[in-house]
Amino acid sequence: MIQDPITFTGGPLDRVSNSRRDQGWLAERLADPTSRFMPMWGLRALIDLNAGPGIAWRPAADMAPFLEAGATRILLGEQDGVCHFAVDVSAIEKPKAEPYSGWGKFIDVRSIAGQLPAGHAAILAQARSMIDWHDRHGFCANCGAPTEIADAGYQRACPSCKAQHFPRTDPVVIMLVEHGDDCLLGRQPRFPKEVFSALAGFMEPGESIEEAVRREIMEEASVPVKRVRYIASQHWPFPSSLMIGCIGEATGREIVVDKVELEEARWFSREEIRAMVDASLTQEGFRMPPPLSLAHQLASRWLEGA
Ligand SMILES: [Zn+2]
Repeated sequence: MIQDPITFTGGPLDRVSNSRRDQGWLAERLADPTSRFMPMWGLRALIDLNAGPGIAWRPAADMAPFLEAGATRILLGEQDGVCHFAVDVSAIEKPKAEPYSGWGKFIDVRSIAGQLPAGHAAILAQARSMIDWHDRHGFCANCGAPTEIADAGYQRACPSCKAQHFPRTDPVVIMLVEHGDDCLLGRQPRFPKEVFSALAGFMEPGESIEEAVRREIMEEASVPVKRVRYIASQHWPFPSSLMIGCIGEATGREIVVDKVELEEARWFSREEIRAMVDASLTQEGFRMPPPLSLAHQLASRWLEGA
């Protein structure tokens, strides 16, 4: 099933990157009673299950104790003149108690993403990656001094050595490999027994996307790939990867699996891929990861001629 936008993309908010550097403007928006705040507890988002489900936005008044205590807050963006923030409320001791239980439920981003309206999962992804980065970057990588949040959350500044630190995104190539009318998929030992997916791996410094695709396929399956075409990308907020989806054209069919990375890799026919994507299983019971994954979206697009 082709999803457009792909889950975790298509966010509706304008990130207002020029306005957000203005401290006065930001302070006004934080205090503005029309501004909306999404509480995140332990990287779980507050979800209102009665409304769809959807993000349980709260007004500034509800978030005042956290903001006054210096909780991490990120400006997510603006829509129709209303600013939207994420606030780390992990200091809450009993998130299942009132008043929070009346507002909604703190839910893992991955488990709820596929049930939200288009674009909402992108807001969750942005918030999750950003708060996670702040959680783990409290000290300067240059001099070791404690750093401070800046630029509405899009930077940490070191007051000691003046270094500026920016939220990181880690590029990952994920690719289908085609040969004739067949497609190469593999399975990692941690996958459910019947699941096969596109091969993937982190890019390394100094590589182009095409080079990373060829290296990963050669390392994991020993299959030579020549031409590589880009199809689509997806932010993956666990914790902060950019999945770069490609299709590579193999120049040979012999597979030698790297058992450190994969349990098995094999060629599937177009009919088998269609059965795996349609959630009807193949005769052997094989299936793809769910539609929110870029692997599923690459396979769906390949079937449609991408
Ligand atoms: Zn420093």
